[in-house]
Amino acid sequence: MTSTLSDSAQTPETSPRTYEVRTFGCQMNVHDSERMSGLLEANGYVRAEEGTQPDLVVFNTCAVRENASNRLYGNLGQLAPVKRAHKGMQIAVGGCLAQKDQDAIIEKAPWVDVVFGTHNIGALPTLLERARHNHEAQAELLESLEVFPSTLPTKRDHVYSGWVSISVGCNNTCTFCIVPSLRGKEKDRRPGDILAEVQALVDDGAIEVTLLGQNVNSYGVEFGDRQAFSKLLRACGEIEGLERVRFTSPHPAMFTDDVIDAMAETPNVMPVLHMPLQSGSDKVLKDMRRSYRSKKFLNILEKVRERIPNAVITTDIIVGFPGETEEDFQDTLKVVEQARFSSAFTFQYSIRPGTPAATMENQIPKEVVQERYERLIALQDRIAGEENRKQLGKTVELMVVAEAGRKAEQTHRLSGRGPDQRLVHFSVPEGCETPRPGDMVTVPITEAGSFHLISDPTAEQYQLRRTRAGDAWDRSQADSCGTGTTQVPGAPVGLGMPTIGLRP
Ligand code: SF4
Repeated sequence: MTSTLSDSAQTPETSPRTYEVRTFGCQMNVHDSERMSGLLEANGYVRAEEGTQPDLVVFNTCAVRENASNRLYGNLGQLAPVKRAHKGMQIAVGGCLAQKDQDAIIEKAPWVDVVFGTHNIGALPTLLERARHNHEAQAELLESLEVFPSTLPTKRDHVYSGWVSISVGCNNTCTFCIVPSLRGKEKDRRPGDILAEVQALVDDGAIEVTLLGQNVNSYGVEFGDRQAFSKLLRACGEIEGLERVRFTSPHPAMFTDDVIDAMAETPNVMPVLHMPLQSGSDKVLKDMRRSYRSKKFLNILEKVRERIPNAVITTDIIVGFPGETEEDFQDTLKVVEQARFSSAFTFQYSIRPGTPAATMENQIPKEVVQERYERLIALQDRIAGEENRKQLGKTVELMVVAEAGRKAEQTHRLSGRGPDQRLVHFSVPEGCETPRPGDMVTVPITEAGSFHLISDPTAEQYQLRRTRAGDAWDRSQADSCGTGTTQVPGAPVGLGMPTIGLRP
């Protein structure tokens, strides 16, 4: 579909065009945004400096999150006058919502130049060029993948850590989820391609990799190997220089023992499992078309903890699914109490048009959902605090991250993640060397809250290990602004690892 654009998109430029990608949504979107940035940079665009008006704004949208379309149209509305005043500016909308709403976006916001879907990210530069050349909006949405997205160039947020897609799409049909209709059936990448990408990241300085898929443990279904995911974890264990391997997210119904064995027996696979529970009520799980039951879920946790005693387990939970009774909700509280999650992404159910649950009877009134949600949060916060307090006095190795905590300006603490992904704010004792993002420090835990830990070590307790990732960080800083750097507490910090949901 096309519509005629104003002349704002017609001005020729001489300097490189600047861009900004705004991401709404999950890790898949964050990773897709990295690809969009990589593609744009491969095509001569440069990232806009903070505080400047970019020549191109790309929205990577999400149809899964609440209010996604309001948020998108709100943002687009604000940009309309900006675009009129900024000659040559273009606006592109991609991601799940674009795949779902397709032509409606250009009808509602005719100043948008390009709409592209989840299956044709690679077409973005061409569509932008075509829109400029033809002075017409371009919408191109494909029903299935043409090129596996990981074969596109990627611009990563951090050199020390990277995401690697192992599959896209999902063969399940959870009734609350729009992913299967937007991302399509599961498509698995070949193990050799995945491992080559992991190796390339490591060669580039990364020491941590997160394997990404809607449903990582069904990986292999496409080429008929039920144990493909555990084999992939073990193969990552062979990659020299790769210190931390993580993955997200597995589905409880497909969780098999070989994955637990691979986690337990592969030293660089971190002792963390993020496994969505969604509900503790078997009736609600059935209505959600999630094929496991709470007993099976708890059994998996038991097995994981038997084999990996220090495992940290986190989850996603939806409160207020249609038809959820107080009794159903009590079942969720019971499972949460037994499962002892270290943290949980908790969501209030809200209607997502296009999903089967959207038209179910017995939608739960907002105030009931809110009240249940608050009870769940209170319980989960208590458990998270208790679990975190068990860490007091332990010595942990942290990978230093670029982003500091909210109070870093006052406390001058830096931040790092333990093997179990717990966030630790730590101080560097006087006279000790300051680490760079990507370096490793070993410190004792001296304080514990519900959402983070604190370490104020003595000089004797503080150990710094400079890493290849820290060197790569220095190089990347030098490339981007001409200064090799160590992060100074209190100074502005870079963008962080993406987090999703309400309770990281
Ligand atoms: S497993 Fe269910 S919730 Fe997860 S992506 Fe597939 S359909 Fe959606």
